[in-house]
Amino acid sequence: MPDDIVKDTRPDTLRHLLLERRHQLQKQIDQLLAQHRDIHSHFRENSVLDTEDMSMRDSTGAQQIALLEARTRQRNQLDEALRRLDEGTYGMCEDCDQPIAPARLRAMPFARRCIKCQEQAELFEQVIQREDREEVAPRGGSLSETML
Ligand SMILES: [Zn+2]
Repeated sequence: MPDDIVKDTRPDTLRHLLLERRHQLQKQIDQLLAQHRDIHSHFRENSVLDTEDMSMRDSTGAQQIALLEARTRQRNQLDEALRRLDEGTYGMCEDCDQPIAPARLRAMPFARRCIKCQEQAELFEQVIQREDREEVAPRGGSLSETML
């Protein structure tokens, strides 16, 4: 029923939900940034680093950066969802222009595609990445929407 989508995805409820998630993400991002600064200033104070210290600093830093990138990407997705909400195109699949299932939007408020198009897009992305890997060095894994 098309009524469903109206009932389940009222703009006010949605906006609230999206802003709430964005707020949580921003808090995590701020925390990660603060931790990142702490680690670096901690190691700077102990100016004599042995190799173990350095590799610990580097691996911790890399993990934080990966997490930070993932969170920032999610925040950007939320911003985009909010923008689509303003434009009135929220909840429509950007590939096939059909409404995205309300259950999917509830689980993933920033979904830009219906499940069918998303699967296709990810399959496509995997193929591209596989081709990339075969030709050059591996790239950082992209965050799959279905894994969130
Ligand atoms: Zn679609």
